[in-house]
Amino acid sequence: MKTIDSILVRYGEIGIKSDRVRSRYEHTLVNNIEKALDFCEIPHDAVVRDFGRIFVHTQHAAAAPAVARVFGVVSVSPVQTSIATLDAMKDAALRIISPLLTGEKSFGIRPRRTGTHDYTSKDIGVTVGRAIEKATGAPVRLTKPDVPLFIEVRAERAYIYTEVIRGVGGLPLGTQGKVVALISGGIDSPVAAWLMMKRGCTIVPLFFDCEPYTSDAGRERALGVVKALAVWAGRPLDLAIVQHGGSLGQFRKLAPRATCILCKRMMYRIAASIAKATRAHGIVTGESIGQVASQTTQNLLAIDQASDAPVYRPLIGLDKTESIKLARRIGTYPLSTAGHPAVCGAAHRHPTTNADLAELKALETQLPLRELTAAASKSLTWQRIFPEKSFRWVLCPERKA
Ligand code: ATP
Ligand code: MG
Repeated sequence: MKTIDSILVRYGEIGIKSDRVRSRYEHTLVNNIEKALDFCEIPHDAVVRDFGRIFVHTQHAAAAPAVARVFGVVSVSPVQTSIATLDAMKDAALRIISPLLTGEKSFGIRPRRTGTHDYTSKDIGVTVGRAIEKATGAPVRLTKPDVPLFIEVRAERAYIYTEVIRGVGGLPLGTQGKVVALISGGIDSPVAAWLMMKRGCTIVPLFFDCEPYTSDAGRERALGVVKALAVWAGRPLDLAIVQHGGSLGQFRKLAPRATCILCKRMMYRIAASIAKATRAHGIVTGESIGQVASQTTQNLLAIDQASDAPVYRPLIGLDKTESIKLARRIGTYPLSTAGHPAVCGAAHRHPTTNADLAELKALETQLPLRELTAAASKSLTWQRIFPEKSFRWVLCPERKA
């Protein structure tokens, strides 16, 4: 017996945009939903727009959690569709709810209606409720029933369902601009990049390879999290890799306690030039106030001045525990913590926490900055990172690797 025939997809903020913008965003959302379903190998027919909702025609309930994880989706429900007559709704409701009303479970009807009909919402509740009571013997409970049954009538169709699965929210990926995402492979930076993606931004991931001051584990972790971010993006991501060890060696020799600040200023400078070259509108990092020595407000002020592109820090007000919680939710936590911890061998034990911009600039005049930047640019390589099938659990929890 066929239980569901579609997934009803609700989206939030898109609905309040102007007609033109809304149509564009909806179109992008439909495409992104198609990609997510293809990636999870969930068979489906059309994905269609219908007056403020999207419907995915499929009989596979596994499509629901996969679609719920597409940016822009507020909630989804696996539904059975019927024509909007009381008799048809009664039959469909019985099919969907009967198997669920085991062991004295109560139920309650939640009717809603838009369009012109010869019955009211209350009539739906009474007629369908009585039919279910009679067929199953289950008790009706209007407040907090064990099984709520939603009947949503829209013009000549009715959608019947028992589940509302929360979506990830945000805006469809690709509807906003592009940002360069500094990905260290640590816990925070993938979460920061993900938050920008959730708001619709595409990302250009950028990793600074600090070899010989860090081990290969750092690079492996960065690659791993970018593979997971590519799953969220539903498409390959081009990862920029810049060799940073040469610069680090110079900073360390010149000013051991200021190494981290000089290093970050260099990273920002290069990130800003990559942003320009890739037509990105800013850079995003995983910094959070006071989390480590380089992230005091004084140091952030000094670091910021190195970039002429805006720096976005979506984690700025989060505690580490909050970032970890998000990292677990989006599936990057185990990838960021795999192998040995990535400790930077160039960092001083007592790094500067209140950097002075004038002093830093004076220090930088003693460095061959132009040569270092040129060497960094020359070392830039691009690696295409595909969304890895074994990370399907990120989008499709029941399809673990
Ligand atoms: P994370 O958990 O993201 O590694 P962190 O708490 O270790 O961050 P820092 O090492 O001070 O903090 O780095 C701050 C931010 O600078 C990172 O979130 C990241 O955006 C960027 N960053 C640091 N190291 C690198 C790197 N090797 N390559 C690219 N970006 C980096
Ligand atoms: Mg780090």
